[in-house]
Amino acid sequence: MKILVMNSGSSSLKFQLFNKEGLTVVASGLIGAIGEPLGLVSIRYLDGKGHEQHIELKDRIVDHRDAIEIMMKLFQEKQILSDVTQLAGVGHRVVHGGEAFHEPTLVTNDVLTEIHKLTPLAPLHNPVNITGIEVVMEKVPCVPQVAVFDTAFHQSIPEHAYLYALPYSLYKEQRVRRYGFHGTSHAFVSKAAAEYLGKPYEDLKCITLHLGNGASAAAIDHGICVDTSMGFTPLEGLVMGTRCGDLDPAILFYLVREIGMDINEMDTLLNKKSGLKGICGNNDMRSISKLAEAGDRQALLAFHIFCYRIKKYIGSYLAVLGGADCLIFTGGIGENAVSVRATCLAGLENLGLTLDPQKNNNRSDAIMEIQSDSSPCKILVVPTNEELEIAHQTLALIG
Ligand code: AMP
Repeated sequence: MKILVMNSGSSSLKFQLFNKEGLTVVASGLIGAIGEPLGLVSIRYLDGKGHEQHIELKDRIVDHRDAIEIMMKLFQEKQILSDVTQLAGVGHRVVHGGEAFHEPTLVTNDVLTEIHKLTPLAPLHNPVNITGIEVVMEKVPCVPQVAVFDTAFHQSIPEHAYLYALPYSLYKEQRVRRYGFHGTSHAFVSKAAAEYLGKPYEDLKCITLHLGNGASAAAIDHGICVDTSMGFTPLEGLVMGTRCGDLDPAILFYLVREIGMDINEMDTLLNKKSGLKGICGNNDMRSISKLAEAGDRQALLAFHIFCYRIKKYIGSYLAVLGGADCLIFTGGIGENAVSVRATCLAGLENLGLTLDPQKNNNRSDAIMEIQSDSSPCKILVVPTNEELEIAHQTLALIG
């Protein structure tokens, strides 16, 4: 029997198929550029000969329904899952669970209705997550499905940290508050760190930094998330690939008055044209690091703005937690960018964080400790695996 995990983005579908027994990966893939003139299909799977890879460019993949059809057809063609009755369950990453969902939830019609109601809070993501659930319901109605919400891990954040200093009625009537995102990743790496350190999760005080194209920080106190940097939407907080992160909202009034910018232009500006890309024209940290080393001033500036924001969040979350047992780096940048880790931790020795430059240079697919022997706070690099976490949660619920 197999467990399928689907992780739909606004124009992509990532999927992973696991053996129910031991949750070993049978196949993983990406169907990308959905809705664009040329789509991309990529899958790695196990067959009798070991790992096989199949990559193809496709004429326009119309929508997520189309993408799921392609995925199912591939499963059959490659004999990865020739019979859908072999599916024991399907886990979906659902971006927004609002205040309704505090934990992974078995999908029923009522649950689906609730997720629909949350669409205004995540207009690009919840509809494609819903499509995934509905297509599976149509094709294999008997297979149990589990919704794993990106926001759920942050539902423990206390009121004084999730409320904005806006009229309270905006919270009560319009649901305006901090929700936080990347919850599955923050949960996965913090639990993995506790296990690695041999500490009960309920005793762990840690700061998690998920640094990828999207980036967020979380403060976890005795295994409970007490604050996170993303807010009402994934735009707040750290500097990201193309997103600005924290901003003085009055900049928007100024742009409206001075150059007549409209709402759609603002949305594109802050979500797609800002962050690393806005500062140096590039949103790939690998390229930015190389350009910065070669003396490119804008790339160096983007790099420093990115690291400085992270440093400020580390400082504030140390204050929130009253000190931490460990700091965790994860995500494409957090797991790989040695210079980012070194730069955002420079000067934090008096706060209990001392990096060992040699250990920081090491590479590993497993958890790595990179603090010096004298550092009271452990500094860990923990590879994230959201799909595995979703598979675990799915298995836990379907039994
Ligand atoms: P993610 O969204 O988690 O896939 O992370 C994507 C980001 O990780 C991009 O900015 C990549 O440039 C960055 N990244 C991946 N590998 C490396 C590396 N070896 N060094 C620096 N940045 C990296």
